[in-house]
Amino acid sequence: MTSVIPPELDHSTFRLAVAQFDQAVSHMALDPNLFDRLKSPQRALSVSIPVRMDDGQVEVFRGYRVQHDLSRGPTKGGIRYHPDVTLGEVSALAMGMTWKTALAGLPFGGAKGGVAVNPTHLSSGELERLTRRYIAEIFPLLGPYKDIPAPDVGTNAQIMAWVMDTYSQQVGFSVRDVVTGKPLSIGGSLGREEATGRGVVDVTLEVLRHFQQPLTDTTIVIQGFGNVGSHAARILYEEGAKVIAISDRFGGLHNPKGLDIPAILTERKRDKSILPSLTQFGEPILHEDLLTLPCHVLIPAALAEQITKTNAPKIQCQFLIEGANGPTTLDADAILNDRGILVVPDILANAGGVIVSYFEWAQDAQRFSWEESHIHSRLQSIITKAFYRILHEAEDKKIPMRTAALISGIEEVARAHQCRGLYP
Ligand code: NAD
Repeated sequence: MTSVIPPELDHSTFRLAVAQFDQAVSHMALDPNLFDRLKSPQRALSVSIPVRMDDGQVEVFRGYRVQHDLSRGPTKGGIRYHPDVTLGEVSALAMGMTWKTALAGLPFGGAKGGVAVNPTHLSSGELERLTRRYIAEIFPLLGPYKDIPAPDVGTNAQIMAWVMDTYSQQVGFSVRDVVTGKPLSIGGSLGREEATGRGVVDVTLEVLRHFQQPLTDTTIVIQGFGNVGSHAARILYEEGAKVIAISDRFGGLHNPKGLDIPAILTERKRDKSILPSLTQFGEPILHEDLLTLPCHVLIPAALAEQITKTNAPKIQCQFLIEGANGPTTLDADAILNDRGILVVPDILANAGGVIVSYFEWAQDAQRFSWEESHIHSRLQSIITKAFYRILHEAEDKKIPMRTAALISGIEEVARAHQCRGLYP
């Protein structure tokens, strides 16, 4: 079955999310009454955000908050600040959050928010005013039992602190569990910042164990060196793997003998240098060449739609672990599958962030803090169990892991709809 995309949601990432949904549903006996409901958002709010800039002028930005499905609990999902944010992109990401939370067994539905803005062009004051007005505009949707935002591309712990404060000012008391990814001093969780990268590593280590690939002989290439990519690189380095190439938006750095990731992180912190300029650690490499380097594991951890039908035939990894959301197009998926490359899909591989966000929300509700070692071991336990469940499902049914993961998430959500029934 092929879905028709509503014009207001038409965006390549939304088309990809719906095509993946259609593909998974073709392997299931999904109640046809649920099909139309689940392939588009339950609620979507589009807001104007007027912001007084430092020069005294008022600039108006466009923001969105989308709740894809509320059947299993409050919705959860990040806030993205990026110039290309659209309603369609945010809706696709919200849908992915629904399957991701259901797959991991978390008591949430999927949401996402975003503002079409380049945050690097704003001063700190402008960023704060933008965030506070955006949260005031989407306030009716938010709440610890309604919808709980978190960081995503272009947002960070400081922005989440402004989210928490703005919400708390509106209701008149401190509400810690309205947002996750906050600083520790206002109810953030130990281990949250590195959680997505750590979850990517947990999954990578299980893939290597399952396929009997010795870790110390393993070469890794990572696209993107932000929150997800840099933590994944550091933890993989600490575990003894050889990270041979990394990249940021300016280009890549390659060293076939393995990059000294801790030294690169220290250097970058010291002078905020871009990766291709750090030639004391390796050779600069172009974006397109990095993705096709021979390696055991390729981790896209930057943007959507990076592995396409053009570069998929040239990809030389054995295992592709999706740190980013939607990095592989549908055409590329088919090519990688035919070539025997194992793809661990985003909704499984990058679930570490929302799993530890769930821990943060639970700690805030309990007014109790967990030890970091407890957080790491609970994360590892949840993501590893989900990985083997989906791997075995894919092997038994001879379907790609992406299809198996989507089926698992969709089935869980369908069960919730079925037992709740249709209101009224
Ligand atoms: P980030 O903004 O911290 O980092 C993005 C990185 O990608 C930066 O290093 C940037 O320079 C780099 N980049 C941009 N364009 C690039 C290009 N063309 N080639 C190579 N690198 C490029 O973002 P993040 O939080 O690390 O998120 C990365 C991806 O992971 C996104 O798809 C996001 O949705 C997904 N994700 C993030 C989290 C989280 O907890 N942060 C959780 C789940 C999924």
